[in-house]
Amino acid sequence: MVFILETEQPLRIGIQKSGRLTEKTIRLLEDIGLKFDDYKSSLMVKCRNLNIELLLIRDDDIPEYVQDGVCDLGFVGANVTAERNANVSVIKDLEFGYCRLSLASPKNGAIKTAEDFQGKRIATSYPNLTKNFFSGKGIDVRIVEISGAVEIAPTLNVADAICDLVSTGSTLKANGLVELEPIFYSQTQLIRTNQPISAEKQELIERLLLRINGRQLAEKSRYIMLNAPASAVEEIKNILPSAKSPTILPLADPEMVAIHSVVPINQFWDIMERLKQVGASDMVILPIQSLIQ
Ligand code: ATP
Ligand code: ZN
Repeated sequence: MVFILETEQPLRIGIQKSGRLTEKTIRLLEDIGLKFDDYKSSLMVKCRNLNIELLLIRDDDIPEYVQDGVCDLGFVGANVTAERNANVSVIKDLEFGYCRLSLASPKNGAIKTAEDFQGKRIATSYPNLTKNFFSGKGIDVRIVEISGAVEIAPTLNVADAICDLVSTGSTLKANGLVELEPIFYSQTQLIRTNQPISAEKQELIERLLLRINGRQLAEKSRYIMLNAPASAVEEIKNILPSAKSPTILPLADPEMVAIHSVVPINQFWDIMERLKQVGASDMVILPIQSLIQ
């Protein structure tokens, strides 16, 4: 009998080739330890240190590729996955690429609320999300599907209003439009195929998730080092977040200790001020690369 040893297929990840998500996605992948050769010149890039390959494609194609199992994972905006109604699993919100799909109409025009859209023409690249929003409210609209530069449609009299992605709102403003109502909030997500995958791939996905979680937690935390009178240690322990036991080190001066700890960024200034009040000094604050718990 002859056994043929199949080499394991690489875990294939679909990412946007060129656009708003590309740089942040690549940076995330590099931060969690994946090494690539030049990703700008090729559609398929092999990872040098893990059995992973990147497929660089238009973001619109990512949900279907993941749905069909062409890619095992994808980095894509929730807006695209929802619009395509793709059968995939969202396994992680990635906390970048924040935007909203919003209704907007010409400044000083007659359309001020969603109800005013009855019978109007609305230009959008998101016909399904827009249709669902209005049909949920029992409002009839005429969808004019446009693939880009949607905000110019009212000026060209192709539509009466639009439904488009907004982050700061400056593009709307520059085109004489006002934002009326968000219909969908989005951020970049990691999606996974629902097609069966090998145990090896599953294990690799779990490793990637652990690393992404570590990076996200690190971004929300700071490492602090400070000196304090030994007599203040108990008070300082009470101020520092309870889940983390601080490291306490002796100093040359027996009355003093050095304390190291990790603090969440949202409580950071409050903690620093309280530490100072109980005698902490020489506080050094450092960013953290990754935090695995
Ligand atoms: P592609 O050529 O890949 O189809 P695209 O032009 O459709 O690119 P981009 O403009 O690069 O897409 O946007 C990609 C994603 O970035 C959007 O689907 C959305 O999730 C997110 N995004 C964040 N802020 C904005 C914004 N202000 N406008 C548009 N998209 C935004
Ligand atoms: Zn696109």
